[in-house]
Amino acid sequence: MTLEAIDKQYVLGTYARDYTNFVKGVGSTLYDDKGRDYIDFASGIAVNSVGHANPRLTNAICEQAKKIIHISNLQVIEPQAKLAKRMVELSGYDMGVFFANSGAEANEGAIKIARKYGETQFEKKRYKVITLEHSFHGRTITTVKATGQESFHTPHFSPYPDGFGYVPSIEDVYDAIDDETVAVLLELVQGEGGVQPFEKEQVQKLAAHLKERDVLLIVDEVQTGVYRTGEFLASNLYEIEPDIVTLAKGLGGGVPIGAVMTTHKDVLKPGDHGSTFGGNYLSTAAGLAVLDILSALYDSGALHETLLYFEQKLQDIAVRHTALFEKEVGLGLMRGLRAKSAEVQGRIIKESMKEGVVVLKAGRNTVRFLPSLTITKAEIDEGFKRFETALSSL
Ligand SMILES: *Cc1c(COP(=O)(O)O)cnc(C)c1O
Repeated sequence: MTLEAIDKQYVLGTYARDYTNFVKGVGSTLYDDKGRDYIDFASGIAVNSVGHANPRLTNAICEQAKKIIHISNLQVIEPQAKLAKRMVELSGYDMGVFFANSGAEANEGAIKIARKYGETQFEKKRYKVITLEHSFHGRTITTVKATGQESFHTPHFSPYPDGFGYVPSIEDVYDAIDDETVAVLLELVQGEGGVQPFEKEQVQKLAAHLKERDVLLIVDEVQTGVYRTGEFLASNLYEIEPDIVTLAKGLGGGVPIGAVMTTHKDVLKPGDHGSTFGGNYLSTAAGLAVLDILSALYDSGALHETLLYFEQKLQDIAVRHTALFEKEVGLGLMRGLRAKSAEVQGRIIKESMKEGVVVLKAGRNTVRFLPSLTITKAEIDEGFKRFETALSSL
């Protein structure tokens, strides 16, 4: 049986899969089973933040695995405590951390913290969470419901939990708040929705307003976090002080991990929330190595240089191919080219793969770029060379 046949017979068909079989990666280059190489402009989906087979990360994982992979959360876990400290210090916020295993789970934790806050802090219980249209917050029943895209709320999975409402834009949040609203949940750059950043002034104004009304601001940084936008958190870039921040994708460099950070450190008590795997030795040792690598890259100025270089290349392409693209969108190393149509988007992604460069889709018509933060200039040059070859064949 071919790999494709085995996959189709035994793995549930939840993904529209491509059957290129990657067997190895080095930095931002992937190799398939035929020995062909590909420049990786996707890094999973913003997951391989330090590239493939990063020696420092690989070493940290191997050394940890030789000692302890996992114990329960009923005992203290040294790398978990150290990772929490590191994350809080890098964020600059006075927060505490809860560890989960994925972005959706991190958002579940955030919603639980907000709901308990709303139940315990006010005379009349507050429980409603406002989210934005075109947002994406996960695939569990609750986070699907929090996701502001009607197509996700199919009747297949109903009934969904109550208490979620959607608004088209940040300006519409103000009027949507009522005396039962406990929180606003948003991405600062909507990733899955089309790599669409919100304006800094708009977000700052909203953040100030929410503080005044004692409504919590939850920033879903599952995709924007861990230096993706050039700062440790997009919240740092936007210079706001959220009540709750969620992280996942890039934090473990490929080892599953999620995290909720909050300034409301005393809301959850023993027994309120938990996770079997969350924050275990393996994932938090990986997280520590990732933050060592990325904070050094940030401090040296190299990360900033990479993102300027990447942006320039992308702008050049947008200018040269106005027949295909409307504009360039995004922030930091979370970028997109808005294609003229969904059909053009689909063809570009297919052709790119043929030419040996991996890019992603986002929204209805955006070609998305989420390279590893350690990508080299040579890899960027080669990737865009292949991408332009792909464009010329359209
Ligand atoms: C990917 C993503 C999620 C879901 O993360 P999972 O690890 O797939 O559960 C949630 N929010 C945002 C903004 C994301 O990009």
